[in-house]
Amino acid sequence: MQVNSRKSNKVVIIGAGFAGLAASSYLARDGFDVTIVEKLDVSGGRARQLKRDGFTFDIGPTFYWMPDIFERFFNDFGKSVKNYYEIIRLNPAYQVYFAPEQSLTIADNLKDIKKTFESVEAGSGEALQRFIDKSARNYEIAMDELVYQPGESLFEIVTPETITRLPSFFKSIQSDVNRCVKSPYLRKILQFPVLFLGAKPSNTPAFYNFMNYADFGLGTWHPRGGMYEVVRGMESLALSLGVKIEHNCDVLGFEMAGRSITGVETSRGIFKSDVLLSGADYHFTESLLPTEYRQYSPRFWDNRTMAPSALLFYVGFDTKLSKVAHHTFFFDTDFEDHARTIYDTKEWPSKPLFYASFPSITDRETAPPGHESGIFLIPIAPDIQDTPDIRERYFNLVIDRVEKMTGNSLKSHILFKESFSVNDFKSIYNSLKGNAYGLANILTQTHLLRPRIKSKKVNNLYFTGQLTLPGPGVPPSLISGKIASSLIQKHHA
Ligand SMILES: Cc1cc2nc3c(=O)[nH]c(=O)nc-3n(C[C@H](O)[C@H](O)[C@H](O)COP(=O)(O)OP(=O)(O)OC[C@H]3O[C@@H](n4cnc5c(N)ncnc54)[C@H](O)[C@@H]3O)c2cc1C
Repeated sequence: MQVNSRKSNKVVIIGAGFAGLAASSYLARDGFDVTIVEKLDVSGGRARQLKRDGFTFDIGPTFYWMPDIFERFFNDFGKSVKNYYEIIRLNPAYQVYFAPEQSLTIADNLKDIKKTFESVEAGSGEALQRFIDKSARNYEIAMDELVYQPGESLFEIVTPETITRLPSFFKSIQSDVNRCVKSPYLRKILQFPVLFLGAKPSNTPAFYNFMNYADFGLGTWHPRGGMYEVVRGMESLALSLGVKIEHNCDVLGFEMAGRSITGVETSRGIFKSDVLLSGADYHFTESLLPTEYRQYSPRFWDNRTMAPSALLFYVGFDTKLSKVAHHTFFFDTDFEDHARTIYDTKEWPSKPLFYASFPSITDRETAPPGHESGIFLIPIAPDIQDTPDIRERYFNLVIDRVEKMTGNSLKSHILFKESFSVNDFKSIYNSLKGNAYGLANILTQTHLLRPRIKSKKVNNLYFTGQLTLPGPGVPPSLISGKIASSLIQKHHA
């Protein structure tokens, strides 16, 4: 791996989340003197780890999708994923419950997935093949021509390929899925991947069906030890390139000279900087600037469609569970009803769908022998009321439903539980409205229409992460770090 020797400009990066870590490595490789200032005592941001009584939980992301993007990231430094952690392809990729003891499992290859579809609806196997062929091509276009663009001009994304696909930006993925299959079960399975983009399937352009290729084509993987191994790998790469990471270093404000930031005021003193890159939530960083240097008003942020927040539980069970997979979805309630409570009525759902992860099924190290680690996630509207009583009510609801759907007895096997929700997202990450996944990727919040990477009002201020380009998720955060660092390189080298 080659590191340029010139260390001209000092770059301070706020936040050691995936985006900040990714950007730090590119900038250090390109000769900048890089320091990350991180509020928390560890790196990883929303992807930190919880350890308790011999159990290990990923606090945030659990799905390792789009392995090609992780590989591309490490390849940029002459390395490979396998130099840092091991990934295992899950089979089944996941299981979905639709009614008590009625579920479908999704295999690790399209041939078997087609058989599963066919067993539910005659003719759907071939329809699925056509759908995935289209989504595979869209994936290629998205990764090669769109998502690595910095969002400076519309011309970046107008290519002969994207022009021919224009109609697919103006119809929803829901309508495409509904044309592909009739079964409500299969429709839910094909609509679920776009939930990673943070919006309703009825509000997500059909072009984004490339997420279905990420699901059925590229597969669901698990880094041995959990998603936090990715953070460790990226941190280790950054440190090897000379990046300095200052933990317990809370950014409180900026020193400015005219339209430029000259220093970052933190709980541990001032860090001088020639360039500032914020990987913390966009709105939070702008709130630290004098009003005249903020690009976006409170009204702008109020009118954005945020990706959901989440209510999460991390549970230690003193027994192994059966009839669940590493990733298990409980889709036994109405998708649209739940989505309405997130995006329209902004209230707690009465019959939530939810997701459960049992990493110890694959990764024995994450729980003591004979025990199971369980993570439960209910997507909810950002900024809704979050109290201990509400959390307890939903915990009981989730456990009851898992018992009913799977036939497992859980209540008497709970050793402990911890929860995380809206108030924690706000207080720990300075998250706008307590969002979990940033800003939804809908047509009106895509590319040029997302908050910009380069500030228009402050000469040397840049943003990265899930609230700017290209959008929410771990792979997009790595891409965001690359885009932001390329712009800094272009403007300040
Ligand atoms: C519960 C949950 C489940 C998810 N599941 C998946 C999944 O399965 N697969 C997937 O691909 N994606 C998933 N995501 C999304 C993914 O985790 C995020 O998109 C990604 O981690 C965001 O990274 P980031 O670097 O943009 O932001 P962050 O991780 O939020 O990093 C920002 C950093 O800035 C720091 N910071 C904030 N304020 C300050 C300050 N004042 N001073 C210094 N530092 C500060 C924060 O502490 C944090 O470390 C999930 C997210 C959540 C929350």
